Order: sequence, then structure tokens, then C-alpha cells
Amino acid sequence: MIRNDWTLEEVRDIYQTPIMDLIYRAATVHRQYHDPNEVQVCTLLSIKTGGCPEDCAYCPQAARYNTGVEVHKLLDVETVLKKALEAKEAGSTRFCMGAAWREVRNNRDFDKVLEMVKGVANLGLEVCCTLGMLTEEQAQKLKEAGLYAYNHNLDTSEDYYDDIISTRTYADRLKTIEAVNKSGISVCSGGIIGLGEKEEDRIAMLHTLATMSTHPESVPINALVPVPGTPLAEQPRVSVWEMVRMIATARILMPKAMVRLSAGRVRMNVEEQALCFLAGANSIFAGDKLLTTPNPDYVEDQKLFQILQLKPRPAYKQEANRCEHA
Ligand code: SF4
Repeated sequence: MIRNDWTLEEVRDIYQTPIMDLIYRAATVHRQYHDPNEVQVCTLLSIKTGGCPEDCAYCPQAARYNTGVEVHKLLDVETVLKKALEAKEAGSTRFCMGAAWREVRNNRDFDKVLEMVKGVANLGLEVCCTLGMLTEEQAQKLKEAGLYAYNHNLDTSEDYYDDIISTRTYADRLKTIEAVNKSGISVCSGGIIGLGEKEEDRIAMLHTLATMSTHPESVPINALVPVPGTPLAEQPRVSVWEMVRMIATARILMPKAMVRLSAGRVRMNVEEQALCFLAGANSIFAGDKLLTTPNPDYVEDQKLFQILQLKPRPAYKQEANRCEHA
């Protein structure tokens, strides 16, 4: 059963379940709603890099941190469509375009993004964008251009948010997600662990996601990749068990969502990634870069798929509920 009324206590109980029981329960839910041998392959391209006015403490693209990221203005439409075609040929079915903006402005750059969205949709790929804050009107324009999903991560809990970002509020974040929801575009929203948050922050973030009126269609779970020059450069690495716990809890709370094993995968071996898939992850980012941080390349992922006998999920697959009783 899909529930949007989870209590914080229930989320905490699930999150704190002994790990073997938690994985078993999540794997059971996963099998009721998804083909467990199928994984969605997404490509993320930075279409405008660096120079961002925001101060997200984990992000190498914030202009105020000295991280050595090369600033690039918005790519041209042709370049983006070429990259999208390459991603499709390499097996991706979802193409996500990220711009280091605080918010979308109604200008020529936005018109170009709309053209990119149209072009990528015409290639038969699911198109996703992550462009910062957005109004309902802008969301509508993106929808009309063929946008399938919009990414806007919560990053962490409402309580811990101010420690990570001071240039916008959690309420701003939720407002954009609401605008996306209203336009009929799928919401992609998750978070990052390893930011120095407490266990309770992780639980609270999962609770916020799982009690949205409609669960996000995709829930990316990221492990911080600490980047020199950012305030979080010295954060210790999160363990694979913490990732597994987050993924499994997200899978149980939001059974239909695509739970994406996102940043941090580059540090995991095949066995660790297999555990994440067993715990309910069914989506990855492919390609050697995640915006500006490293990611396993296509060849390594082909090997991973062969070893684990996984198959890529087709684009636009409407996952029929196999069973309503999770
Ligand atoms: S995460 Fe996005 S909004 Fe925050 S600094 Fe980086 S590019 Fe800007």
C-alpha cells in the first residue's frame, strides 16, 4: 500500500531496523513494485557550470569557494543534443541537464533550455532538468516543451538545512517542488548524506519526502563527495551501510519511486553496489562525471551489469503495480 501519512516514529523504526532485516524487508517491497533485475540508467550533463551565487557547503560550483571548477556559460543546443545522442547510444534512457543557477530567469538562456528539452525529448529519452528555483509558469513551459522530470533535492532535514545553505530556505525548496508537482512534471527529489548531519536529520528528511502529497517519482540518495575548497572538504566518508540503510528505508517508505544510487558510487566496489540494488536502489547515473565530480564510466558499468545480470530499464516504462500490499 502506498502511504503518505507515515509518522516520524514509524520512519525512525524502519530506519533503525537491524540491517539484515531492513534489507530483507526493502528487497521484498522492491519485488512487489519493480523488476529487481532492472536498473534505470541516467546521464547527467552540466549545461552551465560554476559561478553559482548560492552557498551550498558541499558544492564545488558555488562561486564563493575556491575549488578550481572551470566556469562555463550555457552550452549551445547543438552540443547538448550531441551529448544526449551519445548517452542514448551508450544505453541511457534518462538525460538530466543541470545548470548552476539560483533560479530560472525568463530570458534567452531559458528559451535555449526549452529548445534543449524539446530536442532531447524528440530523441526518445526521458528528459530531466535541475535548474534551481522555478515558478509555476516556468514549470508549465518546461512541461509543454516535453520535460519529464525536474530535480530539486531537499539535501537534508529542515533543521540542519541552515547549516548547509544560507542563501535560501527549506520553504523555498518545497515551494519549487510544489510548482513542479502542479505542472504535472515528475518530481525527482532526494538528499545527501555525510554532510555532518545526525541520524535524526536523515530520518526527518526521509519523512518529509515520504509524506509529500505525491511521493517523488525519483529519489536520489547521494553520499557526499568532499571537494577541496568547499567547507565540507574534510568530512569523513560515509560507509556503505549508511547508504544501504538510507536506500532501504526510502524503498520501504516510497515503494513506487525510482531510488537512485547517485553520488558516491564511484567509491563503491561491485559487491557494495550489489547490496544497494538488493536494498531497493533501481537507478544509477552513468558517465564519468556527475556535473563536476567523478562517477564510474560506461565501460565499468557495462561490466557491473554483466556481473549482476542486470538489464537497463526502458524509457517511459510505466511501472504497473505488481501488488498493492507492501
Ligand atoms: S548545489 Fe546548485 S544551487 Fe547550490 S551552489 Fe551548487 S550549483 Fe549552486
